[in-house]
Amino acid sequence: MDKNLLITGGSRGIGAATAVLAAAQGYRVCINYLSDHVSAERVCEQIREAGGHAIAIQADVSNEDEIIRLFSRVDAELGRISALVNNAGTVAESARLEDMSEFRMLKIMMSNVVGPMLCSKHALLRMLPRHGGNGGSIVNVSSAAARLGSAGEYIDYAASKGALDTFTMGLAKEVAGEGVRVNAVRPGYIFTDFHALSGDPQRVSKLESTIPMGRGGRVDEVAEAILWLLSDKASYSTGAFIDMAGGR
Ligand code: NAP
Repeated sequence: MDKNLLITGGSRGIGAATAVLAAAQGYRVCINYLSDHVSAERVCEQIREAGGHAIAIQADVSNEDEIIRLFSRVDAELGRISALVNNAGTVAESARLEDMSEFRMLKIMMSNVVGPMLCSKHALLRMLPRHGGNGGSIVNVSSAAARLGSAGEYIDYAASKGALDTFTMGLAKEVAGEGVRVNAVRPGYIFTDFHALSGDPQRVSKLESTIPMGRGGRVDEVAEAILWLLSDKASYSTGAFIDMAGGR
């Protein structure tokens, strides 16, 4: 089977580390991104310099028209995908529920829940034998927030990741007999730019004392788990979750 991988939000953070590790393991990679063209091209360049194959495609994966355009370009420029990592996600400024607007909630749900569901739909149209595919593997990037609730910080985000977990479990069962595995990782506090979105770029360093292992996580640690779940080494795992939260 061709090892063609689409990573949403592959330009920075966990997605970028996953793209680099995947290319080192023989995947031809498409890095999707929202707006940071320079970072996306930098990741592609890093992969190409190491002898790998990578392309970057801009698309907002919270919008199905853009997802359809993304997958069409991936078909044409990379080939039929065998692997999808639903990594793109967003969060908003820390707040209590009383202060959260409908717009904010909808944006989070569209990016973190509907987007991965739609990307999975278009991936299945390429992976399932009933649509001419040869099977495949999907990994969703959830969060420890799905288990913990993120009270006083961003319960809308936590709820979106809870929905992503339920989607992972359901879709895994729906396609389990058709050669497609669907799993998820649940990172805890990982050092990336993500925390600036919630209003505190130093969030991970500040909260290290609350983490049982006493430190924040690294993107390469999360990427290793994603790559394992994607690979044939995880051939009997579907609907599974790997918690990567230092014991939280
Ligand atoms: P990050 O460093 O902020 O990177 C986010 C990536 O997602 C960027 O590539 C961004 O593109 C892309 N993106 C955001 N919205 C998008 C959209 N609508 N369409 C396409 N691309 C979009 O974030 P990260 O920390 O690596 O987070 C990656 C995933 O891990 C997220 O799902 C997040 O919820 C989850 N997670 C993170 C942590 C953590 O502590 N960092 C913990 C638990 C879970 P641009 O570069 O173009 O902006």
